[in-house]
This record gives sequence, C-alpha cells and structure tokens, in this order.
Amino acid sequence: MKDLVTAFRSLRLLIKKYPWIILTQAIDIIAGVAVTVIPIRIVSDIAGVYETGGKFSDILPAVFLYLFILFAIGIIVLINNFAQNYINRNFKVEVATMLYRKLDSVDYEFHENPQFLNNYTRALEYGPEYIYASAIYQLTLIKVIAQSLSVFVVIFSIHYLTVVYAVATGVVYFFIKHRVSKINFRFRGEIQPLYRKNYYYNRVFFLKDSAADLKMTNVGDLMIENHRSLGREQVAVYKKYAARSSFLDFIGALAIDLIYPIVLGIVVYFTLSSITLSSFLGLTVAATKLSNLISVFVNHLANLESHVIEAAVSFEVLAMTSRIEGRGGFPVLEVRDIVVENATFGYDEGADILRGVSLEIKKGEKIAIVGANGSGKTTLVKLLLRLYDVKGGAIKINGDNYLDVDTTSLRTKIGAVFQNPEVYSLTVGENVLLRKAETEEDRDLVIEALKFSGLYDDVKNLEEGIDTLVTREFHRKGQIFSGGQIQKLAIARGYAQNYEVLILDEPSSSLDPLAETALYENMLKLGRNRTLVFISHRLSSTVNCDRIYLLSDGKIAEAGSHEELMANNGLYRRMFEAQTEKYLGDEDV
Ligand code: ADP
Repeated sequence: MKDLVTAFRSLRLLIKKYPWIILTQAIDIIAGVAVTVIPIRIVSDIAGVYETGGKFSDILPAVFLYLFILFAIGIIVLINNFAQNYINRNFKVEVATMLYRKLDSVDYEFHENPQFLNNYTRALEYGPEYIYASAIYQLTLIKVIAQSLSVFVVIFSIHYLTVVYAVATGVVYFFIKHRVSKINFRFRGEIQPLYRKNYYYNRVFFLKDSAADLKMTNVGDLMIENHRSLGREQVAVYKKYAARSSFLDFIGALAIDLIYPIVLGIVVYFTLSSITLSSFLGLTVAATKLSNLISVFVNHLANLESHVIEAAVSFEVLAMTSRIEGRGGFPVLEVRDIVVENATFGYDEGADILRGVSLEIKKGEKIAIVGANGSGKTTLVKLLLRLYDVKGGAIKINGDNYLDVDTTSLRTKIGAVFQNPEVYSLTVGENVLLRKAETEEDRDLVIEALKFSGLYDDVKNLEEGIDTLVTREFHRKGQIFSGGQIQKLAIARGYAQNYEVLILDEPSSSLDPLAETALYENMLKLGRNRTLVFISHRLSSTVNCDRIYLLSDGKIAEAGSHEELMANNGLYRRMFEAQTEKYLGDEDV
C-alpha cells in the first residue's frame, strides 16, 4: 500500500512538473501496439500468398504499406524519445534541487545525525533517477498491457492454455523479482554508510587541507589502513546479498526464457493439424512477442517496485519536518535587545553544556564572551543564532521569545563569523558579499568591508582587485590566502552582510598582533547601530568592551566591565594577568 502511494506520488510529481509527458506516453502506447501487431500481420500475409498459390508481387503493396507505417512510427518514436529525454534530464535536476533545498531548510542538528545523512546521501544519489523511473514505469506498464492485450487476442483464440501458462510464468517471475528487489533494498541500506565513509577517505586524499599532514605524518597510512578495512566490510556486505540475488535472477531468467519454446510447443500440439500455415507462422511471431512482452511486463513491474521502495527514501527525506526552520513566527524588524534567561542546553541526550546562563545584549553594545576551551562559548553563539533551541529557560529578542520569531528574518539581523570559514571558489568580491557584486554600491561595500577587516591592502595590490578569483580549485592562477587573510575575509563577509548584531567567534586567532589591534580598534569604532559580540581568548581585546561575560563550565562565572572584573579578583583577573605576564615575559627574552 505504501509502495502504491509512493508510486502515485512519483507520477503526480512528474505530471505536475511536465504535463506533456502524458502526450509522449500516449504516442508511445499507440506506436507500441502498432509495432506489435504489424509484424504478425506481415508474416501471415506473406505465408498466406504462398499457401494460396499467389505471387509475392500480389502482396508487395501491402508489405510496403506496412513497412512505411513502421518507418513512420520509427520517426515518431525517435522524436518522442527526444522529448522524453528532455523531460528526464530536467525533471532529475528539479528533484535534486528539491533535495538541496531540503538540506538547506532542515534543522542544523540534522547535519550531525548520521542516520539522516545516510538517507540524505542515498536520496541524492538515487532519488532523482528513481522517482523519475517510478513514474515512468507506471506509464510504460500501460503501454505493455496494451501491447500484450493485442497479442493475447491473437493467441487466446488458438488455445487458452498458452495464455494461462505464459501468465502463470509471469506471476512466478514477478515474485522472484520481488524478492530480488527487497534484497537489493536492504543491500543499499547496509552499503550506504560504507559508501559515505569511502567518500570521506577520498576527500581526505584530495583536499588541500590534509595534503600537508599527509606528506609530513603517517596519517595517510592510517587512512589507507582504515580504507582497506572498509573494503573488507564492503566485500562482506556484497557476499551477504550477492549470492542470493544472483541465484534468484538466474532462476527468473530461466523461467522467462522457457516461455517461448513452451508456448510454441502448446501451439504446435493443439493447432498444427487444424490451422493454415500462414496462421501458424503468424502465431509463432505472436508467441515470440508474448514471451518478450511477459518478460518486459514483469521486469517493468519488478523495476517499478524496486524503484518505488528507493524513491520512498527520498520522499521521506523531503517530508522531514523541522522543529526550528521554516516554522514562521513574528518577523524580526530590528534588534533592540537580546536577553538570555537562565538558559540550559545540551546536545542530543548528552549532559548539559550550558547550565542556567543569563546575559543581556543591548543595541549598539560591544560585548565579549570569554572562557576556557570547551566552556560552551560557541554553543552559546549557536543558540543566539537559533541553530538550536534552548532546553530550559528562554532567549528573548525585543521581549519576544525566540520560539515565536521567524528564524529566517532573525538571521538577517543576527549573523556570525565562525572560526573555520569556508572560502569559496568565487571572486574576492563574491566571497565577501556571498552574491554577485552587481552595482557600484555593492563594490563599494566590498571595499569598505575589506578595509574594516584589514584585508583591503592585500586585495588592492592584486592584478584584478576584488574581481580576483580565489582558490586554485578550478583556476591555475586563483589567489591563495593565508590563514590570517582568510579570517579577515570572513570578517569582511560578516561586516558586508549588514547584520545589526554581528557575532565574531575567535575573530583574531590567526591574526598577527598588529592586525589584531587594528581589528579591535575598528570594531570599537563601529557606530551604535551595530551591536558586536565577540568570543575571544585574547583578554587584551576585552578591555574596552561595554560588558564581558566569563563562561566557566557552562555557567556565567563573572560579568561586568573590565574594571569591574579586575576588581572582582576572580578567574578573569587571573586569566588576564597570566596573559599580560606572558607578553611581558616574552619581551624580557
Ligand atoms: P568553546 O566554544 O567554549 O570552546 P563549545 O561550545 O564549542 O566550546 O563546546 C562546548 C562543549 O560542547 C564541548 O565539550 C564540546 O565537546 C561539546 N560540543 C560542541 N559541539 C557539539 C555537538 N555538535 N555535539 C555534541 N557535543 C558538542
């Protein structure tokens, strides 16, 4: 039943996107019946002439007419195939796009769920093809049924046993195919996680990021070893399923191959003495067609089933509902304040990472969140962006609970630059804007953003300025940026998005001291229209902030201005002094 629903969903989707697929299929059906019936007629007509002592030339015009019809049908089918190919290509692109968009719109936590990722990669790999096939097999089944009926009529009149036998074999064959497709479905379920691992190992070997480690260390050997053991796992999965499905396939093929001789045997046995040679010859052609059609019909039916169960995985992925994304809510028009009230959060079922965190960010403030590694700073940022929802307490924006606001509009107002930004194979300008720089204002904005982050001096010296292509993924002369430059590029990106609240997670970890000082000066100079939250280890950068929150073990241990926290004589002061001593110590050397 579920399979039927999936089959109809596939068909509905295809017809909705390309209604004229029905026309192409109707043409296919008519052409299919004609090419089935005409050869039977040609053979019996020719034999009939010899039987009645006539001359071949008597039926020549009829034969030519048949051939001409077949030729015309051939041309029509050719054009029809072309149209179907066009639909096929475009439809698959559309399904793939639907899947991409889905990934774009599911909750962030789905990206960390291996089960979802297995299903998603599986859907992306097979979905477009299988949904199309599920739809098209239903339409071609109608064609094969129409063709079969035309042959049945011819053959049934000779002896019903032939049809009964052929149909019975078809049923047996279908059940064999049914088993095979169930086996293959389970096989794909077990092999997909292994394919995903395989893809991971491939990526490690072709990504530039890992190239240096691969050359300098033994991590490559470790990966190769893991890859080999993955190979062994894959072979085990193949072994588990391949023998069974090949054996069943063999039996099925044998049953189908036997249809023709047995049907012919029945025809000979029951009819040879009673019918004319011409009818007999026509019947032999009909028997051949029948065995072919039964095999095609059952194969189509079995293929439909195996494609449908795989297409169901894609529909399942497409139907996944998110708790956060795309749920609507109040649009966020501006950010006057964000208040975190007693927020508690833990990933999945794990222990709480944040425990009763409360803090406040007001329009125009420059806020720092500091704390040791693993104390929960990035987690807090993810909550502020509503990539996750708090488990206890609340986050409020202008007094409205985050749970009631529209996430998309929230993220046009609040944005973040994370530590390991992606550098895209686009121009510098596009990397900053994350869209095309179409107007002069766009180009000015790119320059302003690059100046803010301190990258402009480097970019203006490049031959093509902000139009320079970045990365050598596809261009031999692509610009390669250093770690610090990439960080500046990401900061420029955050600046150019015009967020009201810009969160910078460790914005200066790869910057040299001069660049770092310049960046913090620029940040503090930003007007009161821009709220800035930065996560930092460098406590020197926090001195001029409006407020500092010190996270320790998932709790706000200290909060206040630099002077207040120093006067507090607590962890902040110890961390600050430890860092200053380190610098002074370095100077002594
Ligand atoms: P910080 O930014 O202060 O270094 P994080 O917020 O990144 O700390 O991490 C806090 C804790 O949460 C760490 O113990 C980390 O292992 C855990 N953690 C971070 N991300 C995830 C995740 N996606 N799933 C499970 N645990 C996570």
